[in-house]
Amino acid sequence: MNNPARLLLNLVLPAAIIVGARFAIPHVADLPPTLAGIKDFGVYFLIALGVLLGLGFRRGRIVFALLTLAVAYIGYGWLVRDQFGGFRAHTLFAALGVFVPLNLALLCVSVERGILNLHSLRRIGVLTAEVLFTLWVIGSSVTWITAWAISPFGNTTLFVSSPVRQLGWLFLILGIVVCLAVWLIKRAALDLAFASALCAFALAMHFIGAPNAFTVYIAAAALILTIALLQDTFRMAFRDELTGLPSRRDLNERMMGLGRRYTIAMCDVDHFKKFNDTHGHDLGDQVLKMVAAKLAAVGGGGTAFRYGGEEFTVLFPGKDSTHALPHLEALRASIETYKIALRAPDRPPKPEPATRRPGTFRDASSVSVTISIGVAENSDRLASTDDVIQAADKALYRAKHKGRNQVST
Ligand code: GH3
Ligand code: MG
Ligand code: MG
Repeated sequence: MNNPARLLLNLVLPAAIIVGARFAIPHVADLPPTLAGIKDFGVYFLIALGVLLGLGFRRGRIVFALLTLAVAYIGYGWLVRDQFGGFRAHTLFAALGVFVPLNLALLCVSVERGILNLHSLRRIGVLTAEVLFTLWVIGSSVTWITAWAISPFGNTTLFVSSPVRQLGWLFLILGIVVCLAVWLIKRAALDLAFASALCAFALAMHFIGAPNAFTVYIAAAALILTIALLQDTFRMAFRDELTGLPSRRDLNERMMGLGRRYTIAMCDVDHFKKFNDTHGHDLGDQVLKMVAAKLAAVGGGGTAFRYGGEEFTVLFPGKDSTHALPHLEALRASIETYKIALRAPDRPPKPEPATRRPGTFRDASSVSVTISIGVAENSDRLASTDDVIQAADKALYRAKHKGRNQVST
């Protein structure tokens, strides 16, 4: 997500869908009778498609966000039948303005926990409770709840030109702000999609009186969530979860498209098994993240990938090894000098200098690791990417044998 092009895409796509929806609204009425089904069932079709994909990819947050939109759309059907007048319509409208932003913001804040588990039951429980509560208010004619839910702050004239009143705007704006805050913290495209879907829903509510506006904006919200689900699944397939680096699958694809000249470096953390045994697997994971961050910042046009385990690959498209070597040497040195703080409980009771290996050292409160790097470039002899990788692996083996913590060709 740090990639500016991807950030732009994540921002532009939902914005384009919302603007597209705005311009599509007046044309919905012009649909020929043969396409009238789109108007009646298009929203349900889109939501069902998103829900099926969400179930397939086990993404509970998106599934429940879409189910919330589906319930809201059923509520909208009742509003249309009541011609937006009367107690039932007012209650339904107030409930939509509160519960939809509440659910989407809660889903955005929560972590992804899949589908078939107790968390899903709780989410179904919340959605059912909201529906039952709204039906109870309608059935029992408890008018003060509806009146309060519309204007809890008296008769202020704020947003008087909107059918959405005080509490509705409060929840809609708060919901969008919460989703944006989650996005700014976690930088996950999915959270931006939650914020965008809520923006589309806020427009749906504001323009609810305009023919077809609610339908089209809800469809836009469902589309934004479904596309974000697909983007996220795609990203997961090509990114390594622990380090955030592109995965081996991505490397294999990039290698298919390499030009006439390229250099490949295979990097391996030294004595990492020993590091795990001494400091624990969790600190080992932290080290891999640190090493990955250093690799991602390698200069000279190199791109880093997690090859597997504690092994990484750096690809230099269009570059020979003479160009790549100084950047790899700088990378090796920057990892060697990086100190990782040890938390007190992780510290061994007393240092055991006899068991220290040349690749790792520690002082009282920090440790560091080293990496060995093997480099190879393509040539007449090393014509295929498999050949170059094998040659880089052999160079890595030589670096290990020469004492580790070095770059070998
Ligand atoms: P060498 O210097 O020869 O490379 O020795 P080494 O111990 O690094 O090599 P070896 O292949 O014997 O061990 C690799 C270790 O990397 C074993 C495994 O526990 C650890 N490892 C692989 N993947 C992960 C991971 O995702 N997290 C952690 N914490 N450790 C990992
Ligand atoms: Mg290894
Ligand atoms: Mg190793």
